[in-house]
Amino acid sequence: YRRNLAQVKGHKSVTKDIRFIELAGNIGTPEDVEGLLKNDAEGVGLYRTEFLYMNRDTLPTEEEQYKAYKAVLEEMDGKPVIVRTLDIGGDKELNYLDLDKEMNPSLGYRAIRICLDRVDLFKTQLRALARASMHGKLRVMFPMISSLDELLNCKKIIKEVMKELDEEGIVYNRKDVEIGMMIEVPSAVMISDILAKHVDFFSIGTNDLIQYTCAVDRMNQKIHHLYDQFHPAVLRMIKIVIDNAHKEGKWVGMCGESAGNLKMIPLLLGMGIDELSMSPISILPARQLIKTLNYDDMKELADKVLCLGTSDEIVEYMDKVLKK
Ligand code: PEP
Ligand code: MG
Repeated sequence: YRRNLAQVKGHKSVTKDIRFIELAGNIGTPEDVEGLLKNDAEGVGLYRTEFLYMNRDTLPTEEEQYKAYKAVLEEMDGKPVIVRTLDIGGDKELNYLDLDKEMNPSLGYRAIRICLDRVDLFKTQLRALARASMHGKLRVMFPMISSLDELLNCKKIIKEVMKELDEEGIVYNRKDVEIGMMIEVPSAVMISDILAKHVDFFSIGTNDLIQYTCAVDRMNQKIHHLYDQFHPAVLRMIKIVIDNAHKEGKWVGMCGESAGNLKMIPLLLGMGIDELSMSPISILPARQLIKTLNYDDMKELADKVLCLGTSDEIVEYMDKVLKK
């Protein structure tokens, strides 16, 4: 099995009928890049920047952040790197931000909601990112967007940051930085046709999308059986997002845990996903699987699966597909 995996190293991730999928990896720190490259990642699909902010007593400075982003971009050597802006709150706390204890942390003051409230903190991160954009192929994405207003506000703040950098004579890549957002809230799914007009790409965050769609706390072990990535509602949401993005000519990735699940991949492929970002060890197995699949067959498969009513039926169906 290992030898077979080594055989797909250095290959493209492409189906038998020549549909290319970008297989990227998720990282939390610049040190994680080494493992990604060893596993032949074609990019970074999710750089969780919150680790820069955690386990310390003060906010990270612009310089500290710049160094970290630059390190990742340089090590990836021209391969695309999606940096997600701060996604704190929910299960991830920062004691120095003095966040209140909340009744429903995952529905509370978190992620982009904090950044749009604490614009100072957001601008520091965006400045560091703009400066780092000179050192590789940067893509920036916002977490937890739930409305068009939030997205437009983010873009307005980016404009302000660019103007400030211009005034200070600081150089950055003003043309080629793609701007995207995560789709991890059902409200964003339902207006994804509109949101797609204002971004370069979407990345679907299934970890949260499942939690919010099924109303199941992703951390609560007692109801873990209800946290179901194959829930037909979740799969239909994914399909809606991909179709809406493609209608606007935008590409769609996925960076939640489902992206690396071999049972899920044929289905995602059939629904038209363009990029998958996963933990490094899942990359070569995913590529190996993709090379055995036909995109046209997977489209048919996805249409069938999207008509099924229970996740048990769906999983059983996918098991059969994988055995073949
Ligand atoms: C997600 O929600 O799917 C995701 C990738 O983000 P996180 O797990 O960091 O919330
Ligand atoms: Mg999330």
